[in-house]
Amino acid sequence: MTSKVFTKEEWIKSLKDLSGTYTLYGPVRDGDFHSFSVLEEGKRPDFDFRNSRLSPKSLVYPQSERIFEYILDENSPEANILKESPKEYPLKAIVGIRPCDAHAFQIVKANFDNPDYKDPWWVKRFESTVLVGLGCNEPCATCFCSSVGGGPFNERGLDALFIDMGEIYLVRAVTEKGEAFLGKASGGGPADDAVLMDAKDLEASSLEKITSSISTGKIKEKGINELFNGPFWEDVAFACLNCGACTYLCPTCWCFDIQDEVIGAEGDRIRNWDSCMFPLFTLHGSGHNPRDKKVQRVRQRFMHKLKYYPDRYDNGVQCSGCGRCVGYCPVNIDIRQVAALMNTA
Ligand code: SF4
Ligand code: SF4
Repeated sequence: MTSKVFTKEEWIKSLKDLSGTYTLYGPVRDGDFHSFSVLEEGKRPDFDFRNSRLSPKSLVYPQSERIFEYILDENSPEANILKESPKEYPLKAIVGIRPCDAHAFQIVKANFDNPDYKDPWWVKRFESTVLVGLGCNEPCATCFCSSVGGGPFNERGLDALFIDMGEIYLVRAVTEKGEAFLGKASGGGPADDAVLMDAKDLEASSLEKITSSISTGKIKEKGINELFNGPFWEDVAFACLNCGACTYLCPTCWCFDIQDEVIGAEGDRIRNWDSCMFPLFTLHGSGHNPRDKKVQRVRQRFMHKLKYYPDRYDNGVQCSGCGRCVGYCPVNIDIRQVAALMNTA
């Protein structure tokens, strides 16, 4: 696979040229935070960032998406026929995605694209997306990617990776998709051995900066009932506000709800992100709610991420260690501490 070196201005110019082939998304300053936005004319990506507050998951899995539409007018020959809403899947590239967020797509893929089930919209959107990652030279204090199968320069789930080496970026292709992307990039020159060695040193020093970790090794051996009935859930859930921030910010949460919205004789069937932390999420039409207590919902979130998912998919835990839920939970509920309780229970 190709490796190339670009000056920072050359790389920005290359991206501009590539926007003729791909719809490009990149981190753009948005108030106090960064968000992944379309790099249209006049919008310059800011690669000098830690990570975006929201992961770029919505670029493959929109927060709200019309999936079907129908007509209720009985006089219409198409009355009551559910039709798939028209969709487009333009070739796009997410440039500057962090390795943890690219890894997260692989975690979610186990649910949306597996031998038993393929979610057509997620799969088509994912397949038309190129993930061009940016290595993390300065991981945050809340990052623990290296203890869940990732790392600050990890290529898992990426199509290409670029590394900030001061005056230059080293860009390397990881997959054929990444090779095609890099092949279309103008400018740049070959990466010599000295640059490749420096990149390895940078990777090692970045890895050393990650001091945070999560322990989950023993959870797999424990029985579901043993963990489900653990004595610590009331304490874990005590302060939780059920605000749902942890699930909405999480790049590996995928729960959704489907709702019909009807205006006059026209109806849309819409898929919206939902959260296991909300009581309505599990409210049955009968009025019964199997998870009507906060402690049940908090337990569900951690059991799903650290027990049910690993048992079901044998693909590690359902967490890429991005640290968002740790950093943004208003009452400091920390998945690393909960994992420690489950691991030692
Ligand atoms: S962010 Fe914190 S308070 Fe809000 S639902 Fe998640 S665990 Fe509870
Ligand atoms: S559970 Fe928390 S740390 Fe893990 S991927 Fe989700 S937001 Fe990131």
